[in-house]
Formats: sequence, C-alpha cells, structure tokens
Amino acid sequence: MQFGLTQEQEMIVDTVRSFVENEIYPHEQLVERSGEVPTEIAQNIKNKTKELGFYACNFPESVGGAGLTHMDFALVERELGRGSMALNHFFGRPQNILMACQGEQIERYLLPAVRGDRMDALAMTEPDAGSDVRGMNCSAVRDGDDWVLNGSKHFISGAEHADFFIVFVATGVDETPRGPKKRITTFLVDRGTHGFDVRDGYNSVSHKGYKNCILSFDDCRLPKEQVLGEVDGGFAVMNEWLYATRLTVAAMSVGRARRCFDYALNYAAERKQFGQPIGKFQGVGFQIADMITEIDAADWLTLAAAWRLDQGLPANREIASAKLYATEMLARVTDTTLQIFGGMGLMDDFPIERFWRDARVERIWDGTSEIQRHIISRDLLRPLGA
Ligand SMILES: Cc1cc2nc3c(=O)[nH]c(=O)nc-3n(C[C@H](O)[C@H](O)[C@H](O)COP(=O)(O)OP(=O)(O)OC[C@H]3O[C@@H](n4cnc5c(N)ncnc54)[C@H](O)[C@@H]3O)c2cc1C
Repeated sequence: MQFGLTQEQEMIVDTVRSFVENEIYPHEQLVERSGEVPTEIAQNIKNKTKELGFYACNFPESVGGAGLTHMDFALVERELGRGSMALNHFFGRPQNILMACQGEQIERYLLPAVRGDRMDALAMTEPDAGSDVRGMNCSAVRDGDDWVLNGSKHFISGAEHADFFIVFVATGVDETPRGPKKRITTFLVDRGTHGFDVRDGYNSVSHKGYKNCILSFDDCRLPKEQVLGEVDGGFAVMNEWLYATRLTVAAMSVGRARRCFDYALNYAAERKQFGQPIGKFQGVGFQIADMITEIDAADWLTLAAAWRLDQGLPANREIASAKLYATEMLARVTDTTLQIFGGMGLMDDFPIERFWRDARVERIWDGTSEIQRHIISRDLLRPLGA
C-alpha cells in the first residue's frame, strides 16, 4: 500500500494550486458581488488552462486530452475546489460522456469540446423529476427518421455558456413486474435548434455566478444522428460515464474544506479574547482537531475511490461514501469555521460566509445525501437478498 503521491502527481497538485491562487482567487470577489463572470476573464482562464495543457484533462490523449488517471483527476478537482465554481468552469472539463460520440458526432461535439471550441452542458433534472431520474416527463417520439422532443429541464448548470446540450429524455415505457419503467435516450442538442429554448433559471445562494438555466423543448425536431449512444440506451450511457462524476464533488469539497480550514486555524491562532488566542480554549482547539481529522478522512475516502476506479475495481459504493462524507464534512467545517470567526464570519469581508453558503448545494446536486445512502445500503443489502 502506497500513501504518498508520485513526483508527477505532486507536480499536478502544485500546478493547479498555483493556477487557482493566481488566476481564480483575484476575481472571486467581483464574481461574488456581480453574479457574473466577465467574458474577458472567462476567456483568459480558458486560454491559460489550454497553455498549461490542462483543458479537458479528464479526456484520453487519443482525443486530445491530458489522459489523466482517475486519481490524477481527483487531485486536479481537489485543487480546483479551493476556488470559485463560476470561474473554474472555464478550466474546462467537458462531460466525459462525450466519449460515447460516434461517427460524425466525434468531429461535431467530442473534438471541439476537448479543444475548448465548444462548451457543453448536461440536462437530466426536471421540475417533477430530480432524484427519481426515471420519472422524467420530457419525451421524444419518432417521426420518420427524426425525433420530436417536448418538455422541459431545470437546474441546468453552465447552460448559459453551452454551445450544445447532452439531454436525457424518455423514449418509451416498459411494463415490468415492478410496474412501468421508462426507457431513456440521450440526445445532443445544439443551441439555436428550432423549438429549443434556454432561459435564465433561479437565483441560488450557493456559487454565485455559476448559474442554472431552464431548457424547454416545443416540438423540437432532431435527426436520428443526434442520438448519443443507443436508442433507449440512456441509462447505459449514464452508468458507464456519469457515476464517476460524483467523485469530483467529493474531491472539490475536500479542497474547499482545506482552504476554509486554513482560515479557521489562522484565526484561532491570532484572535485574542480573555488575553489569549481563542485556539487555546479547549472549546475552539478541539473544533480545530475535529475539522482536520474529518478533512483527512474525506480526502482518503475520495482518493481511495479514485484508486479503485483506476484499478478497474467496483467503486459505486466507495464513490457514494466519498460524496456523502466529503459533502457533509464540508458543511460541518464551513459552519464550525464561521463559528470560530464569531460575528465577522457572517460578514462578506471574509470569504467564510461564502464557503458556508456554497457548501449547501454539495449535499444536493449529483445525487442528494439520502440518495448516496440509498446506493451504499443497497450495495450492501442486495447480496444478502434484502
Ligand atoms: C445549483 C444546481 C445545479 C444543478 N445542476 C444540474 C445540471 O447541470 N444538470 C442536471 O441534470 N441537474 C442539475 N441539478 C439537479 C440536481 O442533481 C438535483 O437537484 C438533485 O438530484 C435532487 O433533485 P431535486 O432537487 O429535484 O430534489 P428531490 O429529488 O425532489 O428530493 C427532495 C428531497 O427528497 C429526498 N428524496 C428523494 N428521493 C428519496 C429517496 N428515494 N429516499 C430518501 N430520500 C429521498 C431527497 O434526498 C431530498 O432531500 C442541479 C441542482 C442544483 C441545485
């Protein structure tokens, strides 16, 4: 068993850490206050990421990516997690589900996404179908060689910058002994397609500037070439490519928790009350001890799950545990840090209140904590027939 990073991995961590400190941190307050990422800053981040050779680093070298292992990529995400999500979006990591592209789709979607010429967004969630993905109402019916889409999606991140969308829709229903089960197909939909509209979504308290949009399809006609993967094979594509994305949420949570923790540690050492640093009070010192213990535990859970993926071992439960624990740890760490800062923790002179707000969404998106618990318990109970 090997716990250390290789020299190359240390280099990845150092490179991404200094990128985040130099290219992301300086713009965070502007984005936080305005709720926007100015185009020039976005373009600059994109260009510098490309120069570093990190754009689409989650893709294999064969298609122009950096060919990082799952472990290497978890380290990248961990360091990116320190910085603003809205700005980090331009340190492009296209959805690796695009590896399912075939034929002309490779030139139209996969390669331009990896080059950073076109940006993607992934649309699964609907107003009436969140955790229950199969409950989706957005549907497509065949009409000759075309498909006609109707319905809507909401909470779609990064949609305002996307040139095309990876959209999951219902394309039929199977009657099974456990009741009707919808068949899902994945489509590639270009912005500007007739009958397809993208509009502003809701204002979230988490990750200002990282917006979500509402997509609507009104008799949106797509040729059959827009199907990604197989017709009715949406769940297969999802399972093959998407379950590992939960690990990126875990890794980012660890990175953000470490940044937040540094504030807590320094404040506990510097802030004096009753004539001594507050960290000397056991009530505060023990909070520091608990925080670092939980951060390290979440880090190891995350890296261990990434390692399993690299070994080709089953990792579904381990990824769910990492996502569950890391996001809940982040909530505790940001809340405790705010408590250590006292009243100043709530003021926007420090980024603590932002870390605290940002942490909230991590337990919800990419599968809520309850859904992660469901995955973990099912994995353990099913083999026992329960
Ligand atoms: C800011 C933001 C950005 C997002 N970006 C995207 C995106 O880019 N693309 C995309 O497709 N989606 C996106 N999502 C959607 C996100 O993945 C969903 O919000 C999430 O899956 C939960 O769905 P829901 O919000 O509809 O909650 P619901 O599914 O309605 O859940 C409500 C509550 O019920 C609980 N619950 C539901 N089912 C069960 C169960 N079986 N057992 C126990 N408890 C249960 C949940 O845990 C939760 O506490 C985003 C969401 C947010 C908030």
